[in-house]
Amino acid sequence: MFAPPFCPNPRCRHHHDRAGWRYQRHGRYRPHCRRFSIQRFQCMSCRRTFSRQTFRADRGDRRPETNVRIFEMLASGVGLRQIARTLGLNPQSVQNKLGKYGLTLGKLHDNLCQRLPAGRTFVLDEEETFEQKSIRPLTVPIVLEAQTWFIVATEVGSIRRLAPEGTARRRRQDRDERLHGRRPDESRRVVQQVLQRLRDRLPEGLLTLRSDQKGSYATLVLEVFGERAQHDTTSSRAPRTSSNQLFAINVTIAMSRDNNGRLRRESWLVTKLAAKLRRQLSIFVAYRNYIRQRFNYDPVSDSPARLLGLLPRALSWREVLRWRQDWGQRSVHPMSRSGLRLVGAAAPCAA
Ligand SMILES: [Zn+2]
Repeated sequence: MFAPPFCPNPRCRHHHDRAGWRYQRHGRYRPHCRRFSIQRFQCMSCRRTFSRQTFRADRGDRRPETNVRIFEMLASGVGLRQIARTLGLNPQSVQNKLGKYGLTLGKLHDNLCQRLPAGRTFVLDEEETFEQKSIRPLTVPIVLEAQTWFIVATEVGSIRRLAPEGTARRRRQDRDERLHGRRPDESRRVVQQVLQRLRDRLPEGLLTLRSDQKGSYATLVLEVFGERAQHDTTSSRAPRTSSNQLFAINVTIAMSRDNNGRLRRESWLVTKLAAKLRRQLSIFVAYRNYIRQRFNYDPVSDSPARLLGLLPRALSWREVLRWRQDWGQRSVHPMSRSGLRLVGAAAPCAA
């Protein structure tokens, strides 16, 4: 049974403070897409009316019953057109749902992963992919926890890598740059960003960071963590098998790369593309951190987030997509059925 946790009106004083809040039932309504009518409520303070739907991630969605299937397929590397065909939707609405759920799931990850345990080992790697043409490479830095495979942060940036003078590839690159301007190289900046996001979640204590031997990493690790991090490097020429320390990252990117074919565009305005890829990655991160067990032979409830102590069990697809997450720590916790328990609540309760 739904119980509203606070007034959803951000200008109401009971949006942030539940103390003394009163609301009343205010009739029922039946949306087109649902079989049951939904209880409405009214805040006695600001008079705003709202319902359970106001707190849900699928508010305002068309065909909300397809959301879980779409999410499952997006996380399994199925392309947008194929999803649209399978579910009888138009490709644009699948695209819209990808955008919306990518944003929601990015926020869910931020909300659930506020703090990480100290003393852990993390792995940093960059995987290369490209947009539209192979002469327009992108880098996707990822930081994950080595034992649980919990993905802490990902980013997307363009990189500039010129082929040797006189080669056909270099001539194509030069022509492309004459047309579209010099390609920005954002590798250093985006690696720094994922390291900073790791630091934000690890305000104190020591950590070990593994990476390959790329020269800029040592400087960046020192810059971001100072003396707190021990930096271990592995040769990038080591075989990319399951025993490779960077294996988890390779697998993750291989999955997301499946969807890259559709990220086609005509210009080098990389921010638009990067935003799309980032949302796609947010969907993978939510799936791999909170839903899927770490390895196939682990119990199904052993998600990386469970193993890292962030949640008591793995979440279901439905739970991950249940509540909106744009209220930070005051968003409703994905495991809450009633809506009363917030993400930032100190102690887990049955609500
Ligand atoms: Zn109110």
